[in-house]
Amino acid sequence: MSNNENKPLVLLIDDSIDVHRLLSARLRHEPVRLVSLTRGVDGLEHVRRETPSVILLDLDMPDMDGFEVLRALKDDQATNNIPVIVLSGLHGSEDKVTAFDLGATDYVTKPFDLAELRARLRAALRLDRLLKLLAERADVDGLTGLGNRAHFNKRWAEKVAECRRYGHALSLAMIDIDLFKKVNDTFGHPAGDEVIQGVARLLQTTCRSPDVPCRFGGEEFALIMPNTGPRDAEMVVERLREAMEQIEWPRHPDHRVTLSAGLVGSDSSCGDVTCDQWLERADQNLYAAKHGGRNRVVASDIQRACPLTKAA
Ligand code: GH3
Ligand code: MG
Ligand code: MG
Repeated sequence: MSNNENKPLVLLIDDSIDVHRLLSARLRHEPVRLVSLTRGVDGLEHVRRETPSVILLDLDMPDMDGFEVLRALKDDQATNNIPVIVLSGLHGSEDKVTAFDLGATDYVTKPFDLAELRARLRAALRLDRLLKLLAERADVDGLTGLGNRAHFNKRWAEKVAECRRYGHALSLAMIDIDLFKKVNDTFGHPAGDEVIQGVARLLQTTCRSPDVPCRFGGEEFALIMPNTGPRDAEMVVERLREAMEQIEWPRHPDHRVTLSAGLVGSDSSCGDVTCDQWLERADQNLYAAKHGGRNRVVASDIQRACPLTKAA
């Protein structure tokens, strides 16, 4: 059962029960989980609950035809990348052109050559895997493997909304490597890159699994700490700061590198403080940490202007 659930979902939308029977028998040995529905509206409903890897879509159906289903799938950002193989009794090239123009991945005419349909299904599944891989990569920073700025923006919006709506605690730290330009200038760019990668590893090992460490840009990192108030978050980031100053860098063992952080947090709902306002306040604290002499964490409650504690 659980083994079956791991298989990619193929959703068949076809008003003919005979086609359901035929495909369920002929796809039995394919590593897929087949769900068959007879109506376009039910198909769209199912897609909203569970995203299929591939959709097999009949064109000629009562109520809502395949073209309408295809249009609805392609109009919705959440579903427009799902590969759709159109199954049709219509051989006319006009229908094929319409289907492809609407965004179909492939077009198979009935009666099926089942070996060919299986091969086309496997090709569509490969396309789905590649698209998913591409989407993942688009959110990953190439140097560090952390989430990039785009990833941060998405996750941050989610977490601020949760904090506002459900009153979950939330903290955000902006972390910047101190005098990093000097590392590049003195030891070279590859040495600088190693330090950036080192900070990323430190973030991954220091924070807990719900935390979201991201490379915000250049030598600056953002750490989202869900369900964590500012005092606990400050302890986490302080640990990070201490660990950083202990690191002996292979390329420049006599030159330690430190980091500064600006942190804001909330123990309960952040009210109407926006995503950008959180960032601005974390940035202000980061500037305070830099002006205070670097290698320090400045933290405050998002609802109050004054710092939580005096900088170390
Ligand atoms: P501060 O303590 O005030 O933050 O000083 P800083 O030298 O760290 O700050 P500054 O903003 O002057 O310099 C940041 C440097 O980071 C400049 C830029 O060339 C370098 N940098 C940005 N991204 C990368 C990268 O991916 N690799 C390397 N090696 N350097 C980078
Ligand atoms: Mg810096
Ligand atoms: Mg900087």
